[in-house]
Amino acid sequence: MRPNLPSLDSYWMPFTANRQFKKAPRLFVGAQGMRYTTDDGRTVLDGTAGLWCVNAGHGRRQIAEAVERQLMTLDYAPSFQMGHTIAFEFAERLAKIAPGPDGHKLDRVFFTGSGSESVDTALKIAIAYQRAVGQGTRTRLIGRERGYHGVGFGGISVGGLVNNRRVFPQLPGTDHLRHTFDPVRNGFVKGQPEHGAELADDLERLVALHGAETIAACIVEPVAGSTGVLPPPKGYLERLRGICDKHGILLIFDEVITGFGRLGSPFATDHFGVVPDLVTTAKGLTNGVLPMGAVFASRKVHDALMHGPEGAIELFHGYTYSGHPAACAAGIATLDIYESEGLFARPAEIQAEWDEAIHSLKGLPHVTDIRTIGLIAGIELAPRDGAVGARAYDVFVDCFEKGLLIRTTGDIIALSPPLVIERGQIGEIVEVLGRVIAAAA
Ligand code: PMP
Repeated sequence: MRPNLPSLDSYWMPFTANRQFKKAPRLFVGAQGMRYTTDDGRTVLDGTAGLWCVNAGHGRRQIAEAVERQLMTLDYAPSFQMGHTIAFEFAERLAKIAPGPDGHKLDRVFFTGSGSESVDTALKIAIAYQRAVGQGTRTRLIGRERGYHGVGFGGISVGGLVNNRRVFPQLPGTDHLRHTFDPVRNGFVKGQPEHGAELADDLERLVALHGAETIAACIVEPVAGSTGVLPPPKGYLERLRGICDKHGILLIFDEVITGFGRLGSPFATDHFGVVPDLVTTAKGLTNGVLPMGAVFASRKVHDALMHGPEGAIELFHGYTYSGHPAACAAGIATLDIYESEGLFARPAEIQAEWDEAIHSLKGLPHVTDIRTIGLIAGIELAPRDGAVGARAYDVFVDCFEKGLLIRTTGDIIALSPPLVIERGQIGEIVEVLGRVIAAAA
């Protein structure tokens, strides 16, 4: 054990093999710009923007100062039946860049504390909306295989990750589209794959099976992230939108990862030009520095819920930390940085270099597929002797030791560096990763 470490016994780590981790802990003590510092004094290049969230890079003084100012001015105020100005200010700022085209922006904002809370909030808003428009039989929620929508009971119910689901009961009446991963027809693709738009027709099948009058909403990640980087086939999201419209089903895009610039537009909604009814966000909303999420709702959805008698609470839902003043201050300062540094445009500016650098790993042993879109990459490795995830885990640990932070899910390596990454650092990622993958053979 290294000297000066706290006891590792009490902290029960999330989504971590605790017993294995505590035998050889990987610990960060600092971060600045594109790099972390470890407890033993090494620097590690951040290839993942933390957990897909630190889009403007680490240690941004402007954000820290805004948070400090806010905490010394108004640290907390109740969020129910009381307001504070900074939450309205942040919502107004978000409304200006909200997902959707001008005139049709999803510019009504409900604040939450995380991505999981945003998802459960959006699912509940969808069901409440259907009831408000006289469609109270519509309570069924449709997700997709290999979807990740956080860890609330709503999120795991519409999610499609077996490990997150098998121990826990799920909401009744959920169902799933098939995922869109098709390595046979779409291999080593840059951007959107050609094949698979017809998989959206799964929603028609579920309508035929359950009846449209039972279905409230369909939720998908525009680009599935945590389950291995699955960009939508060309035409897929358009087709899903069309089927939802035809049957009165609300469409929810979970943009917890794709929101705030990851694809080179403020939101994936704008990138793909397909407008859902609700958009869930978190992560990049505050550059990851304070926990916060936000659900963007269309005027149609919002206004339908504002029609009860005045004086009655319209939606029986909310959190102690909805619109937390410090998180709002962090969010406003984060938007200032995104705007002044033009960060939402950054992935498009370096797209060609990113794609080329990452796809240069093709041909290394055990690399079975590579997918890039925006400033995201998925690199798929063949499992070692049937032990799913073992090879990728070794690559992850070796990368960390060689000064690069990556993320793995199963045998897929996911990359999503801060949007402030410089061209040379793309080269550094690929150089380290290439060496480590080759050695793992
Ligand atoms: N939705 C998506 C698409 C996500 O990627 C995540 C987190 N990776 C979540 C929801 C859950 O967010 P959180 O961990 O903040 O609850």
